[in-house]
Amino acid sequence: MHRVYNFSAGPSTLPIPVLEQVQKELLNYQETGMSIMEMSHRSKTFQDIIDETKSLLCELMNIPENYEVLFIQGGASLQFSMIPLNLMHRYKQAAYVHTGSWSKKAIQEAEKIGTVSVVASSENDRFTSIPEINRTLLSQEIDYMHITTNNTIEGTRYVNIPETGEIPLVADMSSNILSEKYDVAKFGLIYAGAQKNLGPAGLTIVIVRKDLIGAAHSSCPVMLNYETYSKHNSLYNTPPAFSIYVTKLVLQWLKEQGGVQEIEKRNYKKAAILYNFLDESSVFTSPVHTTYRSLMNIPFTTSSNERNALFLQEAKKHGLEELKGHRSVGGMRASIYNAMPVEGVQTLVNFMYAFEKKYK
Ligand SMILES: *Cc1c(COP(=O)(O)O)cnc(C)c1O
Repeated sequence: MHRVYNFSAGPSTLPIPVLEQVQKELLNYQETGMSIMEMSHRSKTFQDIIDETKSLLCELMNIPENYEVLFIQGGASLQFSMIPLNLMHRYKQAAYVHTGSWSKKAIQEAEKIGTVSVVASSENDRFTSIPEINRTLLSQEIDYMHITTNNTIEGTRYVNIPETGEIPLVADMSSNILSEKYDVAKFGLIYAGAQKNLGPAGLTIVIVRKDLIGAAHSSCPVMLNYETYSKHNSLYNTPPAFSIYVTKLVLQWLKEQGGVQEIEKRNYKKAAILYNFLDESSVFTSPVHTTYRSLMNIPFTTSSNERNALFLQEAKKHGLEELKGHRSVGGMRASIYNAMPVEGVQTLVNFMYAFEKKYK
């Protein structure tokens, strides 16, 4: 079977054992004689799947009792609207840290619901770092503060999670959930689209502190209200059943790998292989400040667009796919999520080394 190393930012590579399990169970799920895709979401079989997915996530992330896990559709992008709709209830004001394209979209949506104060921005730095937060702005009456723990497009990450005291901290973890250890208790709400580090597209995970649920305005549409999902175990209407099922398998796989602690070690190792090479290279460079370098998305470039194009073309011939950088940044980007094996990164670096020798 021919498989490439797929460095796509999302949807992205999934563990092979998971895909094989899906294939095995596709026509006849555990002797039910039908596929998960064809099964009622009210069946006992599917109930078990949703419950197990939730409990696996709680176990892997060590989620405290006073949090709910919700399964929602609409992608992380819908959370840009749902968060202010549900959490901007007291002061109608929130603080946002602006660290790239995704935080910009989050800010734009929140501004439609209430007042946004941007308490820090790395825009002047072309988003190659994570900014310090202006604490004087935080002392205002705000409902929450929003950060993007990993900036998928720019390739930066928070090394330290900011302390916000009583103010709930909301985090977009779409591109680095379960990639490193986080203390969930530091957050009021964590959200992530599944298609990067969790499973297939169509599912968004929201982990929210229970006291933050139930304060949405009465005019809030039922499908945009966290309370609807929490009251009905995310089964108010038909959930993205197949995506939840595959996510369950990914979580089982992660547990078998040794959980977050082990995968974090592996992620540091993978990222180091690529960054160490970039730092030594005479052809490739990384645009991101050393301190804030992402473990998941690694942008890099040569000195010219022509050479970048040649690199991408030759990489493809070697089974190294989806390395083109985001159009807003240019160059290349390797997304090396949990499911990317160490060998994938090593193969990429070996190829880059050979390319460098040939075209220096
Ligand atoms: C991909 C991504 C999004 C958007 O996700 P969708 O599920 O496509 O809406 C938002 N935030 C971050 C950090 C992302 O990486």
